[in-house]
Amino acid sequence: MLSPSTPARTPRIWDVIVVGAGPAGATAARVAAENGCETLLLERAAIPRYKTCGGGLIGASLAALPSGLALNVYDTARRLTFSLNGRRERTLDCSSPTIAMVYRSELDAALTEAAAAAGAHVRDSTVLTTLERHGATVTVKTHHGDTFRARAVVGADGSASRVARYVGVQCAQVDLALEVEVPVEESTARHWRGLALMEWGPLPGSFGWVFPKGDVCTAGVVAARGNPTGLRAYKEDFLARQGLLGPRPLHDTGHLTRCRRPGSPLARGRVLVAGDAAALVDHWSREGISYALRSGELAGHAAARLVATTETEASAVAADYRRQIDVILGTEMRASSSLMDLFTRNPSLVHTALTRLPPAWRRLDTYLAGHTSVAGIMSTPVARAATALATRLPPRPANPSRNIARTTP
Ligand SMILES: Cc1cc2nc3c(=O)[nH]c(=O)nc-3n(C[C@H](O)[C@H](O)[C@H](O)COP(=O)(O)OP(=O)(O)OC[C@H]3O[C@@H](n4cnc5c(N)ncnc54)[C@H](O)[C@@H]3O)c2cc1C
Repeated sequence: MLSPSTPARTPRIWDVIVVGAGPAGATAARVAAENGCETLLLERAAIPRYKTCGGGLIGASLAALPSGLALNVYDTARRLTFSLNGRRERTLDCSSPTIAMVYRSELDAALTEAAAAAGAHVRDSTVLTTLERHGATVTVKTHHGDTFRARAVVGADGSASRVARYVGVQCAQVDLALEVEVPVEESTARHWRGLALMEWGPLPGSFGWVFPKGDVCTAGVVAARGNPTGLRAYKEDFLARQGLLGPRPLHDTGHLTRCRRPGSPLARGRVLVAGDAAALVDHWSREGISYALRSGELAGHAAARLVATTETEASAVAADYRRQIDVILGTEMRASSSLMDLFTRNPSLVHTALTRLPPAWRRLDTYLAGHTSVAGIMSTPVARAATALATRLPPRPANPSRNIARTTP
């Protein structure tokens, strides 16, 4: 596994400091280093670290991985079961093996290895505590008492990001996910092999999932933050129905997911945010790895450009980064917000479309394989008709956490 390196020669001023070694940060650090920047990657945890996540890589995530990345895939979904709160279950075959199941500790360590191989210096077990602008540089302080300066900083420190607070990221949707990783016996492992489950849940906008990983299943539930008791009850019920409540879990954790408000800042001066820190997550599926990889790559290039710019040019680079994110990921998020709207108003309609209308399933299948986008799903006649129908239904229940602004210190 990774042997994190303490910088042998600490430059007086780093070109780029990246905070957080998840998919967004490790990618940004690799890309900045590949652009010739002296890059420092700071990570709070000891690498490899556990991350609450299903570890399901859809086609868009696989396509965004660096070529030749050595990665263990523990299973690949060939069939998907959909259910509406335990009823109307239907299993559909994928046209090709889709959703590669990985452990995040391994994926993120491999991405960090790739950043180190490109020349980035990695410091794990190091927490960013403060961030301050000093003229054309940014000063970063850590809990060890170290102070580093850089010409550009990428905040990729996840959904509870400190850098996002500095930048002023604003969220339109905040959800709580509860997840377990459960060891399973051979007969249970055989049942789940090649099969993933998505169940539309009883709480507004909620769902449960089971992802197989050989002798382990990752299973969890997600819903709008604000009803932890209801979500815990759903989790117990869901796990019991899937036969996953008995075994003692290897991990039993919870984590927030956040989706940005359109127009929310992505940069402040020479500081950029990417991945969960920028609240770049699919509103409906809460898929975030492809967003983290893609925004991390864009942030790595933008940071490399910031290194060589004057103060006046810096705002143009930041504006360009925002434009690229908006064009590529903003389009996806707008489409996923519409899908979430439709789903929250009428999960039964979405379930019926997916399980009974072959074109709707084919589009989702194509999306999972990485051959179309969420915007591609929402542009189909079926989705347009369902959206038109849904506008006649009662409005989407308010997400209690909507429109939360992260305040700038
Ligand atoms: C329960 C659950 C299941 C999910 N399942 C899937 C899935 O199956 N597929 C999918 O595509 N997405 C999934 N997601 C979303 C996905 O996990 C995230 O979108 C993804 O991890 C974002 O990557 P990131 O690099 O932006 O942030 P992270 O992976 O969160 O990485 C951030 C890093 O920053 C570090 N850090 C934090 N603060 C500091 C600090 N102050 N100083 C230094 N380092 C710091 C953290 O230790 C962490 O390593 C799931 C999310 C949840 C909650």
